[in-house]
Amino acid sequence: MHIFAIANQKGGVGKTTTSVNLAAGLAQAGQRTLLIDLDPQGNATMGSGIDKRGLQRTVYHVLLGLAALAETRVTSPTGGFDVLPANRDLAGAEVEMVDLDRRESRLKRALAQHDAEYDFVLIDCPPSLSMLTLNGLCAAHGVIIPMQCEYYALEGLSDLVNTIKQVHRNLNRDLRIIGLLRVMYDPRSLLATQVSAQLEQHFGDKVFKTLVPRNVRLAEAPSHGIPGVLFDKTAKGAQAYLTFATEMVERVKTWNNEL
Ligand code: ADP
Ligand code: MG
Repeated sequence: MHIFAIANQKGGVGKTTTSVNLAAGLAQAGQRTLLIDLDPQGNATMGSGIDKRGLQRTVYHVLLGLAALAETRVTSPTGGFDVLPANRDLAGAEVEMVDLDRRESRLKRALAQHDAEYDFVLIDCPPSLSMLTLNGLCAAHGVIIPMQCEYYALEGLSDLVNTIKQVHRNLNRDLRIIGLLRVMYDPRSLLATQVSAQLEQHFGDKVFKTLVPRNVRLAEAPSHGIPGVLFDKTAKGAQAYLTFATEMVERVKTWNNEL
C-alpha cells in the first residue's frame, strides 16, 4: 500500500482535481485505490459523486475515534475507487483533537489495519499547514505537490518544503517529496514555460514528466459528480491525468526494485 498526500498550502492550485483524477486514473489502471478527503469543503467527496450533505459518518468520525474506517468509507459510484468522505463536520476536528493523545497520527493509525486492501491511498489535504494536513503528512510515504507555473508558485513552495522536512525529522521518517506536478499549464504563456523550466532545473527528476494542461472539461466534471478522466475521456486534461496515473504506477514499481 502506497500512501500519498496531495498537498500545497495554497488554495485553488489543483489539489482536489489531482486527487480525484489520479484516483480514477489509478482505478482505471486496475489499482485498488482509496481517496481520503481531508478538506472540510468536501470537494473531493462531491467530485467523486458522493453527496457530502447526507453522510452519517465521515473522516471526522474516524479521526476522533467515533467510527471505524471500514464502516465509514463509501465507493465512488462514478469513479470505481473507495472514498473516505468529508464535510463541514471536519472543520471542528482541529479543536476537538487538542486533548487527544498523539493527535497528529490519528489517520496513520486508522489506516494501519487496512494495509492489504489497497494498492494506493491518496489524501486530499486542505489549503493550510494545519493539524489536518499534519495528519495527512504523518500517514503518508510521500507528497505530491500540484502547482501552477506562475511567479509566486516558487515562493510558497519553500514553506511547504520546510514543513515536509520538519515532519520527516520529527514525526515520519518515511516521508519524502515524490514530485511536483505542473497543472493548469498553458504552453502559450511565456511565464509558464519559464517557471516550468526553472522547476526542472531546481528539482530535476522530482518534477513529474506529465504536464496537466488547463482544460475546461476538468473544471466542468465536478458539477456532474464524475471524475474528469471519465467525464470526457478524450479531453486533453483527462488524457494527461491518465498518463500521470501510469507515471505513478511506474514510479512505484522502480521503488519496489530499490528495496
Ligand atoms: P485546490 O483543491 O488546490 O483548492 P482545485 O482542484 O479545487 O484546487 O482547483 C481549483 C479550481 O481550478 C477548480 O475550479 C478546478 O475545477 C479548476 N481546475 C483545476 N485544475 C484544472 C485544469 N487543469 N484545467 C482547468 N481548470 C482546472
Ligand atoms: Mg481542494
